[in-house]
Amino acid sequence: MPDCIFCDIIAGTAPSRQVYADDDVIAFLDIRPVKRGHTLVVPRNHSRGLTDLAPGDGEKVFAAGQRVGVAMRDALDADGVNLVVNDGRAAMQTVFHTHLHVIPRHRGDKLSFAKSLVVRRDPNPDETAERLRRALKG
Ligand code: AMP
Ligand code: ZN
Repeated sequence: MPDCIFCDIIAGTAPSRQVYADDDVIAFLDIRPVKRGHTLVVPRNHSRGLTDLAPGDGEKVFAAGQRVGVAMRDALDADGVNLVVNDGRAAMQTVFHTHLHVIPRHRGDKLSFAKSLVVRRDPNPDETAERLRRALKG
């Protein structure tokens, strides 16, 4: 698939901090996290969005998103999780390979969440990825 950064990540020709992988999907840290641990779950099959995503791939993406979200409670002390798909430019989709955002949330984080929407940086993403990998193995 030409010019698709997520296909490059899946192929291993672009770097990522992978936290989970199986035959159908991979999950890696978002490069500009809105919260520490913000993860993207991506089907290995390329599709642009909801209109051409195979329903079976959607199921697998959601199932992996559920696993990652539950692991965030252990790995990052998350009290909650946002699962989000931005579908189409009008919905602020910027990478046109279908993906599910998994965003850990903490009680009372409204203010820091608003700030991190602007800053979008994790000072230690390697440690964050390692924590998630460990929780997802267990
Ligand atoms: P959206 O298309 O708006 O749902 O979001 C695309 C997300 O992909 C953004 O949150 C970006 O920060 C993220 N992103 C873009 N390029 C990369 C990359 N090379 N590695 C990890 N995340 C990325
Ligand atoms: Zn792709």
